[in-house]
Amino acid sequence: MRDLSRDTRFLSINTATLRRERPLAEVVSALARAGIPGIGPWREQIQAIGIKAAVKLIGDHGLAVSGISRAGVFTAKGRAGLQDVLDDNRRAVDEAAGIGARCLVLIGGGLMPGSRDIADARALFAEGLAALLPHARAAHLPLAIEPLHPMYAADRACINTLAQANDLCDALGEGVGVVVDVYHTWWDPGLEHEIARAGARRILAFHLSDWLVPTTDLLLDRGMMGDGVIDLKRIRGWVEAAGFEGMCEVEIFSQRDWWQRSMEEVLRTSVERYKSVC
Ligand code: ZN
Repeated sequence: MRDLSRDTRFLSINTATLRRERPLAEVVSALARAGIPGIGPWREQIQAIGIKAAVKLIGDHGLAVSGISRAGVFTAKGRAGLQDVLDDNRRAVDEAAGIGARCLVLIGGGLMPGSRDIADARALFAEGLAALLPHARAAHLPLAIEPLHPMYAADRACINTLAQANDLCDALGEGVGVVVDVYHTWWDPGLEHEIARAGARRILAFHLSDWLVPTTDLLLDRGMMGDGVIDLKRIRGWVEAAGFEGMCEVEIFSQRDWWQRSMEEVLRTSVERYKSVC
């Protein structure tokens, strides 16, 4: 296992950790000041200044882009609206490829509007993914399926386990991989096995935060690493045993706690915890 305690070489920060609405320029310079070499921006931040300016900004500060959030959600407008959603996904691929991201993060999307059929939602996600793949392959941009915790199955993501994501990768072949996010997957009895099954080639991103007890908000109450119950080192051990050598991306949605603090404090704490408990 890599020794993270010595430096921040493999550390990346998903910009949602610092509140999504912060302008990219502000976040990039804060990361550089904190000695953090990786960033995981959201599409909105790139769109706000344009790809060219984003490339220059990120390049000027020497940052690596560990992934772009977020695309997928092929179920959002039902089967009839798939083309619309696909068009937006193709733009997301172009944005991610344009700024040299390691991958584009895709989530499932919830049930289709008015539907109770989760199997149908999952089938439509698979269709959307297959339809997007040629564009992503042509752009040499890996698509990373991020399974989300089952509590989001209805409204956000019908892809809930790494096994499902691996099955999709098996079906589609080259150009598709997975995100292992400890928050979404820590509870899964099949996690170790599925991480090994994914292997180095498929694991495109590794996301860090912690599961608080109690959790007071399903979406916006993620914990700082070390403040919750996830065995972070154990999961990182599995990911690295599978051959993953990429960045560890901190992704904390925390409306009432970390989003209330200064960027400097959040980054300083992220670095400390990354070095000590991850
Ligand atoms: Zn994540």
